[in-house]
Amino acid sequence: MRITNVATAVIDGNFPWVLVKVETDAAISGLGEAYWGAGVAELVHHAKPLIVGQDPVNIARIVELIQRCLSGEGSQAGAAVAAISGIELALWDLLGRALKTPISTFFGGRFRGAIRIYADCHAGATPDPADYAKRARDVVAAGFTAIKFDLDMPNPYTIDISDDPHPRRQWFEPFNRSIGSQELRWMVDVVRAVRGAVGPEIMVAMDAHWKYGVNDAIKLAQALEPFDLLWLEDPVPPENLEAQRQVTASTCTPICTGENLYRKHGYRELIEKQAARIIAPDIPKMGGLLEAKQVAAYADLYYMPIAPHNVASPIATMAAAHLCTAMNNFLVLEFHAIDVAWWDALVEGAPMIVDGFIHPSDRPGHGLTLNDDVARAHLKPGSSFFGEVPWA
Ligand code: MG
Repeated sequence: MRITNVATAVIDGNFPWVLVKVETDAAISGLGEAYWGAGVAELVHHAKPLIVGQDPVNIARIVELIQRCLSGEGSQAGAAVAAISGIELALWDLLGRALKTPISTFFGGRFRGAIRIYADCHAGATPDPADYAKRARDVVAAGFTAIKFDLDMPNPYTIDISDDPHPRRQWFEPFNRSIGSQELRWMVDVVRAVRGAVGPEIMVAMDAHWKYGVNDAIKLAQALEPFDLLWLEDPVPPENLEAQRQVTASTCTPICTGENLYRKHGYRELIEKQAARIIAPDIPKMGGLLEAKQVAAYADLYYMPIAPHNVASPIATMAAAHLCTAMNNFLVLEFHAIDVAWWDALVEGAPMIVDGFIHPSDRPGHGLTLNDDVARAHLKPGSSFFGEVPWA
């Protein structure tokens, strides 16, 4: 069997979902997905001459080949790694279809049949903790047992004073990484409201998007300890692992990070320094299924759970779910498209997420078939539908 073509279709979801199709001379194809971003689809096409003619069974070799040949395009991190990830996911799907085997089997088989999904909930730009509570109740009523909110959203004390020559009050200043005392109280109020709304049995995580300095991050994490969060995500900027390790070691609120790291090398020091408690690789972004499995295995040496970040369409979400069945240290998998009404319709069959869980099937590959009509209807303007592209 030889690869004959690699093609993309970018779907205009809540993110541009870069679908990647790999075709062979055996009339078997695989469908993967790369994380969104400028240039990702172009880089997939850039890699095509390296892939066409290869035996698709040799997935790790093909990935290593692209990795080396795209070094000038920056294949240690960023868009090039996302492009490689999309190709890699397609190859595992292709191999599964060729061997009539579900992807999970290739990674050691299943520790579990059900993958717990957490819903990323946006309460909107509201300053009212009651709005967070209402959103939490609604999402839990839809069946989810794990939820996440953004804690760094505008609040009543978010006033940019950077252009005010004489700021009279202790308002939030967005560039100095501080949390004002009123802000801290507001954040605690939000978490208290959400926890109060959903009760003790629902997993609740909060994201802070790399906003704060070490001491204020510790104050925040400690102030949230009574609410038993699943995690506090990215309370400090990502570059300084020593700073992050200090925060992690100073609180029993678990600190989670990892959505912007690439390849196993990107996670090595984070794990070795135990600078976080929970690792959140984005699988179609950081290098793909095999790379993520290797990160999970390394994290498991330090008994750290894996909670993959995920903003993908059903394709990469299901591929990730297959891998998560095969990670002993899997915790929860993200779902970021709760407000995309046609998310499920993008693939054939019944809804994928049932009562907050995905049950990966025993069908070959990831087991999904794209609904071409829905995909075409939501094609990103200017994208081809698995056809020729002007810059290839
Ligand atoms: Mg995040």
